[in-house]
Amino acid sequence: MELLITDLSKTYSNGIKALNSVSLTIPTGMFGLLGPNGSGKSTLMRTIAALQDADSGSITFGDIDVLNNKEEIRKVLGYLPQEFGLYPKVNAEVLLNHLAQLKGIKNASERKETVKMLLEQTNLYDSRKKYLGTFSGGMKQRFGIAQALLGNPGLIIVDEPTAGLDPAERNRFHNLLSEIGENIVVILSSHIIDDIQSLCKNMAIIHKGSVLMSGSPENVVEQINGKIWRKIIEKDALSDYNEFKVISHRLHSGKVEIHVYADELPGLGFEAETASLEDLYFLTIANFQN
Ligand code: ADP
Ligand code: MG
Repeated sequence: MELLITDLSKTYSNGIKALNSVSLTIPTGMFGLLGPNGSGKSTLMRTIAALQDADSGSITFGDIDVLNNKEEIRKVLGYLPQEFGLYPKVNAEVLLNHLAQLKGIKNASERKETVKMLLEQTNLYDSRKKYLGTFSGGMKQRFGIAQALLGNPGLIIVDEPTAGLDPAERNRFHNLLSEIGENIVVILSSHIIDDIQSLCKNMAIIHKGSVLMSGSPENVVEQINGKIWRKIIEKDALSDYNEFKVISHRLHSGKVEIHVYADELPGLGFEAETASLEDLYFLTIANFQN
């Protein structure tokens, strides 16, 4: 099953153009939507989840016309929104059971079995009697995945699920996500490059409502391989490099490490650097003019 987005545009009533003719083909497996805050990720995801309308364009999932058949898409969709509110004084098992009912799992023993399986899968079974208000950020997000998996969805959307998680929780969450995504379409958004790099078979970079690039992380990075150069410079020397295309700079034991994009060795003291998704991301965004 494939998700096909064609020429999708959306301008909010305040005049902000959140989506600018977005077209994407999203195959099964994990697909990463990478972009800075405000780039349109949540708008795109809410539109795919049939929670808001676009101004123009189309979305199909298999033979479902998403924008004109919201009931159909909701049956096959699991969605974890960026802001995910939970009832603090309800325990995990009770809420998941309730959500399973809403999802249409009517048979009580089937529902019980499903809830148990999902709590186990998300490593929350031992905490099933705890109030959700006592859950850590990582546990909440794992609960969010459990509810998104109700009803065997063919399409799962998770919007910035790792924001605010500590490194260990993020790791755990990554492992959980990587177990889901083989035969269904999973769309994951993040502004964290490593989330996309380590999880996604395919990805797109989105910026100011436009898709700037899409493909597999290896293939998109391949395009700039051999063109990234690294140099360690003094902290106050950055302005000496104005003539170069400096795509990133970061502190490095009191000095500054710069990455420069150039077809050939840009000058003395530079050394070749293996291109990374981070280099590509910064370069793509820096090159974008609108
Ligand atoms: P992201 O999820 O990548 O941070 P969003 O889709 O939330 O991006 O937002 C894209 C742009 O649209 C931003 O400039 C944001 O301020 C604006 N925006 C988002 N939601 C609304 C809304 N309901 N009304 C008006 N503007 C909005
Ligand atoms: Mg968002």
